[in-house]
Amino acid sequence: MGWLGLDDTDSLAAGCTTYSMHQLLQSLPNTITHSSLRLVRLWPFARQRTRGNAAVAVELSCSNESEIIEYLDSYWKAHLSGLKGEVGSSSHDEREQFPADPGMVWFSSKHPPSSFYTDAVRSEVSIESVPSADHSWGGHGRIGATAAVAWSSQHCTWEAIAWRQSIRHGLLERRVSASALQHVEAMETTFLSRDPRHGRGLVSPRGPCPVLFGVRARDARTALAAGEALRRGSETEATEGMRVFATNQATDDHLPPTIHTTVLKTEVVAKGTCILHTKHGTMLAFSETGDVKNLAQWLIPGDEIEARGLVHQSGVIHLEKLRVERSVPHRIRPLCQQCEVRMKSMGSGQGSRCPKCKARTEVQLIDSPRTPPSRSWVQPPLDSRRHLARPVEWDSLI
Ligand SMILES: [Zn+2]
Repeated sequence: MGWLGLDDTDSLAAGCTTYSMHQLLQSLPNTITHSSLRLVRLWPFARQRTRGNAAVAVELSCSNESEIIEYLDSYWKAHLSGLKGEVGSSSHDEREQFPADPGMVWFSSKHPPSSFYTDAVRSEVSIESVPSADHSWGGHGRIGATAAVAWSSQHCTWEAIAWRQSIRHGLLERRVSASALQHVEAMETTFLSRDPRHGRGLVSPRGPCPVLFGVRARDARTALAAGEALRRGSETEATEGMRVFATNQATDDHLPPTIHTTVLKTEVVAKGTCILHTKHGTMLAFSETGDVKNLAQWLIPGDEIEARGLVHQSGVIHLEKLRVERSVPHRIRPLCQQCEVRMKSMGSGQGSRCPKCKARTEVQLIDSPRTPPSRSWVQPPLDSRRHLARPVEWDSLI
């Protein structure tokens, strides 16, 4: 019948767009049914992004479309339009804060083009470029709301999200059963449940939002089973409800195609962050990107690499994936054949001499291959990976 999109109903202090959608669906009249619930993460550098930078959409059906429009209109006025202007403060997030500017869209007769989704996940889009919906409400949030409807969902993963009871909203401590989490982590297609480096759960957000946990899987059935297992856990606090969303998380949709290029120069700056100057521009491997930073630091001019990353507004590429295609060898003096000692230069442009037995050779330098710390693609550790990043281990999956 048609698609509803919703975004930007949360401030940094409270609220969550997924929870707004849950509440809207809870109060749907019996004559309207819903399906294909989805959550879409958008461009991480968007200036006016919301906290988790996620927008939601759902398909609604009813024998009479005007009933849907009437319902949405009254729901908007009663519950959503008033969220405009909500601002919060957050001690662990210093970026500029924008007040919430909720947006809601309804597409029935036509569907926004999937190219709009691609634009919104890979670049900054303006409100003026949003394809017009059959009905729309509100402001800036219409960008994400429309992108969530425009997503083709051809490649997707799944997330079961459970919300806390309203009495516990705002409390920072979240109770999720540790043993249930262990069980969930062992399920075959779940991912990002726990950080093996620190043994810490990754399913619960920090901060005051109403989400208790979000558990991710590569298929819908496992996401649901995992979510139910966590809810059943004896130490898990009571929840208000749970829903399974199709998502664009772990799809790499945010990344432009792989760049094949040659390193011209490398620079290591504060905290080990590495700047790569390449034939295709400047790339940054931030200190928290772990293996990506380590591999970037290992590179020398002439090395050929494959790189994937987000293009920042400044044009600099923020590396998320890196691989060495071909490394240039070190040029070193040969070994003395008698003593197996490294020979030394006899002066510029001249041959080499053994420092021990003084044997000489015309040979000046020989190639010594360099072995990279990893020959395959490397990625940041779990806890500093973006929601949108596809784990490199999945490359071998069909
Ligand atoms: Zn020698």
